Amino acid sequence: MFRLGTRPDSMRMSWPPVFSTSSVSPARVEIELGTSLMFSARRSAVTVTDCKALTVRVNVVQMGRARRPAGEPEELTPRTSSRLQVNWVMTAYKCARAAILSVVPMTKVSANNPYYDSTKPHHTPEGFRNNYSDKVEKPVGHVLRWQWEAYRDGLPKPAQIPTPQVAPDLALIKGYTRGVTPLAQPAVTWIGHATLLVQAGGLNVLTDPVFSERASPLQIMGPKRAQPPGVAMNDLPPIDVVLISHNHYDHLDRSSVLLLAERGGGNTLFLVPLGLKPWMEKQGITNVVELDWWQHHTVQVEGYGVEFHLAPVQHWSARGMGDRSETLWGGWTVLSTDLHWYFGGDTAYSKDFADTRAYFAPRQTAVLGGGFDLALLPIGAYAPRWFMREQHANPEEAVQIHLDLGAKRSIGMHWGTFSLTDEPLDQPPLDLIEARAKHKLDEATFSVLKIGETRRLPARSC
Ligand code: ZN
Ligand code: ZN
Repeated sequence: MFRLGTRPDSMRMSWPPVFSTSSVSPARVEIELGTSLMFSARRSAVTVTDCKALTVRVNVVQMGRARRPAGEPEELTPRTSSRLQVNWVMTAYKCARAAILSVVPMTKVSANNPYYDSTKPHHTPEGFRNNYSDKVEKPVGHVLRWQWEAYRDGLPKPAQIPTPQVAPDLALIKGYTRGVTPLAQPAVTWIGHATLLVQAGGLNVLTDPVFSERASPLQIMGPKRAQPPGVAMNDLPPIDVVLISHNHYDHLDRSSVLLLAERGGGNTLFLVPLGLKPWMEKQGITNVVELDWWQHHTVQVEGYGVEFHLAPVQHWSARGMGDRSETLWGGWTVLSTDLHWYFGGDTAYSKDFADTRAYFAPRQTAVLGGGFDLALLPIGAYAPRWFMREQHANPEEAVQIHLDLGAKRSIGMHWGTFSLTDEPLDQPPLDLIEARAKHKLDEATFSVLKIGETRRLPARSC
């Protein structure tokens, strides 16, 4: 443990330095990542002030008389400075990368929320917030600790088993076209990560389409996909609706939505959470409807209405360093005559799912066919728990979400494609087996698909 007063040793120092109020107050702590990324902290509050390179220097500056932590034998020095060239460079790089890739909710530049409605608790003048937790935002110190520990421990460990992949059943997938087959058996195909093709209600619906090589703003860095998409973009049937859960790079990929819009020739409808329509329009995509939580949009198919509702989940949004939570996030509930399905996007466990079940309960009585026929729930990107718990559910929490929603069956997604956090890529389905056993659920009730696999689902009867 590096403490104030000890002499930092670049190769032996471990994270975290003690920045608690009792040990540093009223000291000032500066963590300078070369000329590029500079955090400065007064007590435990840390803000990013500059961003340019990747060398790391840690300055601990005592501004006045600081109390020594109990049991700490060494005197606080007035100034301790060290330039650390190896381990910290990697940590700094990984922090910057994690922030850019939007697994780190840490920065915010105040902005006006043009959608602000003071009667809605999840609206703020600057953006949006969760219903049940304000702990999603992480101080930079936590980000550094996470990345340091991951680097120190060599995490994530490589997967032992490649994510299973099968050749897609293109005849089945391509045979489902809008309106022509509204009474055909519904089906779901896993393309990878949170990208799924759901064929139900006479519509081809694609969730969070990411077909690019990397989930990143740059195709030269960032998480690279471990498996190619289970269905190539060119092998997809005409897509009627694209659902976007939020704007993180592993869910909203610019080149994928552009290709889909071009392919659809204006007929592909993009449904997005509040605040994302201007971004879509900036890309030249105009067939877009944006919704707030509990709002819905109906698509008519051969006289049937298919309803798309945006429901709250616990997460956040950002595509850059200064736009945290300026656009909304959510899960999608889709109600058609043959399938009630739910797409969780990206979420932590929260009471939102019990709320969603209660909200739709009048539509899902036993006489009307019961609860959700299918829930697509995230089970990956959950480690370490102390850091990820507020933004990503682990498999056990996903099982609880399944139970809270009252879903008849669930499929785990958001794993096996992009390595975003500390667990091995093949760990989530193993944890899911344990979680199922704990809750005495069988595999048919909550399973995973192989990439490219299609599962046919019983049509809802009412
Ligand atoms: Zn996300
Ligand atoms: Zn994600």
